[in-house]
Amino acid sequence: MPKPELCVAFACDTEDNHPNYVPGWTEYGSDYEKNPAVINWSWTKYWSDLSKSFNTRNVPVTWLMRVDDGPIYDQMLKHLKEKILELKSIGDEIGIHIHTWSWDIKLSKWVQTINPKDEAKIVTDSITMFKKNQGFAPLSASMGWHTMSNEIMSALDANGLMVDASALPKNCSSGKFGKRDNIYDWSRAPTTPYNPSPTDYQLPGDMEILEVPISSLSSNRPSMLSKIVPKLSDKKSLARLLPLARQLNLTPHNNLYITPWWSSSVYNKIIKAYCKKAHNEGTAYLIGTFHPSDILDPKTGNKNFIFEEYIKQVLNTILSLENINVRFMKLSEIAERFKGKST
Ligand SMILES: [Zn+2]
Repeated sequence: MPKPELCVAFACDTEDNHPNYVPGWTEYGSDYEKNPAVINWSWTKYWSDLSKSFNTRNVPVTWLMRVDDGPIYDQMLKHLKEKILELKSIGDEIGIHIHTWSWDIKLSKWVQTINPKDEAKIVTDSITMFKKNQGFAPLSASMGWHTMSNEIMSALDANGLMVDASALPKNCSSGKFGKRDNIYDWSRAPTTPYNPSPTDYQLPGDMEILEVPISSLSSNRPSMLSKIVPKLSDKKSLARLLPLARQLNLTPHNNLYITPWWSSSVYNKIIKAYCKKAHNEGTAYLIGTFHPSDILDPKTGNKNFIFEEYIKQVLNTILSLENINVRFMKLSEIAERFKGKST
């Protein structure tokens, strides 16, 4: 019997600092209350440190670069071009991360659009900007706030993207931070990679693009914490809850989203579950995600050592797995591998 295979990829949403309306980011966050927004890139001073945690272990990262049709446009691609090319030269993948913002005149702030026509236009315009600036086409994508619609999926597919990693199976959200963003629905999506249907992005179908869900525990029961957290509109109560949650080993996430704000207790459980899956099915796809901007501690403006520690913990756990072939891959390689297995 051949050894079971665990294909592992890290798809990260590479963007500016978190917005200043996210708890804890008042001082160092980007200001999305104005047009043009005031973008803060201060986390990028630790980008090399973060990259080294992966590179010294020979683990490629798929850095999905933030592009939008306002307020950032192609600023990140221009401003950090040298760094992006350096990462590409060491074997990492450079894909695209698109946020579907629109300026709300009445509210006088940037909000997530939910108009499918606008969404498709933003996706296409962002990919055009990416190609023009980078000189190559992105093969992999993820959408800001995990948002998805049939129109977005079709626009990604039509623009030649091989793979999208926006799905958070068994999760949906009608909006956070006063409902201004984080509107998404992946409640019906499978937990394994699939080619979506053009009429329902949550169902397997015959599109070329591969949807690669972020790995999650299969439990259907949302935790108490995952029900409470979206209701905490008061930033201060959430800020107070976070250190306590870490101490009590709690997290509202049931997926491999590596974040310093919650306990890391779920990561090992997910890795174990996907190993089991590989043993049962021959191959399993373990997909992790994170926000590189979490390397900045928004309280001090210095490096967030908890985040660095969490990343190392996850990588070392995977590297020490026994009786399984672990293959670290870029997202586009996961798509190729999947194609090879399914034909
Ligand atoms: Zn994002």
